[in-house]
Amino acid sequence: MAKTLFEKIIDREIAGTIVYEDEQCVAFKDINPGAPVHVLLVPRKPIPTLAAATAEDKALLGHLMLTAPKVAAQLGCGDAFRVVVNNGAGAGQSVFHLHLHILGGRAFKWPPG
Ligand code: 5GP
Repeated sequence: MAKTLFEKIIDREIAGTIVYEDEQCVAFKDINPGAPVHVLLVPRKPIPTLAAATAEDKALLGHLMLTAPKVAAQLGCGDAFRVVVNNGAGAGQSVFHLHLHILGGRAFKWPPG
């Protein structure tokens, strides 16, 4: 199966600014940041969408949620940051390898656009 764009970044086949990695996931800067801090936290396992995750992925999903605040803290977001998952093209997903957007460094409004 062809690698996803994010697998290529994780495997250093495409340039990316990696800010965190462990055995299950990697975080790198978004190429088109929407905030002073904008990184993508990506599981090494190429699950296409959040909806495609299964019970088998339960621990991995938990790991991502526990890792996001650590990455936000590492990047100086303090206690104010946003974690976003776009599921499906209609919700704005453009790369079909599950990822958490971690955004910080500015004020945010609700609801998002
Ligand atoms: P999505 O729209 O799927 O929720 O988020 C995909 C994100 O990947 C977008 O914010 C986009 O800017 C980012 N992105 C797309 N191509 C690249 C790339 O080649 N490198 C990096 N670092 N980010 C990318």
